Amino acid sequence: MVESSEKLLYFLDDKPYINMTNACTNACVFCLRNQKDDVQGAKLWLDKDNITAKAVIEQIEENKEKVSKNDEIVFCGYGEPLIKINEVLEVSKYLKENFPNIKIRINTNGHANAIHKRNVAPELALYVDSISVSLNAENEENYNKLSNPKIDNAYEEVKRFIRACVEEKIKTTATVVSNIPNYPLDVERCEVVAKSLGAKFRARDFIPNGY
Ligand code: SF4
Repeated sequence: MVESSEKLLYFLDDKPYINMTNACTNACVFCLRNQKDDVQGAKLWLDKDNITAKAVIEQIEENKEKVSKNDEIVFCGYGEPLIKINEVLEVSKYLKENFPNIKIRINTNGHANAIHKRNVAPELALYVDSISVSLNAENEENYNKLSNPKIDNAYEEVKRFIRACVEEKIKTTATVVSNIPNYPLDVERCEVVAKSLGAKFRARDFIPNGY
């Protein structure tokens, strides 16, 4: 029996992405979830948000040939993948064992240690090659305006998580979305914060209703 008929593995420009959950501990003003339930036609909103690692692995197996043409696979969907830390670790272990040449990246809001009340970076470092963490802002005030976090001290948690990933030697990039209408951001200052944590920095322009 097929574990799930929902889109857990999807492709953008033939590159593979894994969609773990709709849930998120932020509600960012720029989040695509506020605008639509698909990315380039791939419907990512999960009607039953209870997926298993087995279901994800099943979809990877079904698309083995297409997946293996790539040098990277990314955990990035409509929610925060590391809410499903056990499933992410199980799928990552499977990927490393079955696709050793494919690098694993996670796009995350950086709340994982606060959510799970432990430092998960050493567990991720077993399998994950790189991680993009949404720093989102240069200070707590702007972070809270932009991201509407549902956890306490979110900005500090994100910074601590970035540092924990750097310490585990995961290639870590702190990211921001710039040029969001009505939300001025000091991008240079964001870069200073990212570098002070030992991470690389990337800013991407806000694209209304799109990727
Ligand atoms: S962290 Fe990502 S998934 Fe969560 S609300 Fe922000 S943009 Fe959306």
